[in-house]
Formats: sequence, structure tokens, C-alpha cells
Amino acid sequence: MSITCFSCKSPRDKVREMVSLSDRGDLYLCNQCIDLCHEITHEPETAERAAMEQDAARYRWLRDRMLFADFDYNGEGRCMLAFELPPEAKISSDCDETINYAMTIGVQL
Ligand SMILES: [Zn+2]
Repeated sequence: MSITCFSCKSPRDKVREMVSLSDRGDLYLCNQCIDLCHEITHEPETAERAAMEQDAARYRWLRDRMLFADFDYNGEGRCMLAFELPPEAKISSDCDETINYAMTIGVQL
């Protein structure tokens, strides 16, 4: 069996090191991909990255509470998303405000 990196597909003889990721010896990651993972996970926090993570957390929070999505609401080509909110949520005409408030009160469904 030829050993290749499962991520970049480099063969064993083209990389400095190959690390086995499974007991069965059928999953390998090369040193270049390991270095890349390390760079990504240890990248200094930038404002942009922090904002992206905040957005991701917000999307996950919403996704977990989504009841349904209608991508052609009333046949008008508009998207309507419905979310489950707790009874104590403050409903504002500003959608972002409603979501921000619901998130700050730490809703657990
Ligand atoms: Zn690789």
C-alpha cells in the first residue's frame, strides 16, 4: 500500500515526515499539512477573525432554533425564516435587535 497524505495527497517520499492518524495505519497526514493546521489554529487573533467567529456563533445559534425557511415567501421571491424564541424574548421590529437580545439572555431550548 502506498502511503499518501489524506489531505494534500503527497506521497511519502515527497514529504519530510508522515504521521499516522489511525491505529489501522490507513490514515496519514504529512508535516506540511500539520504545519498548515498549526498556523491556522495559532494565527494571531485579528479583528476580522474575531468578527467572523462571532458571526459563525450567531449562525449556529440561529440554525439550532430555526423552525422553517421559505425561500419564496408569498411568491414574492423574498426569503422568510422562522425561529423559535423563548417567551421572555423581547420582539423588536428590528430583527437583529430581537436576535441580540435573545442571545444575551442565554436561551436554552
Ligand atoms: Zn499533506
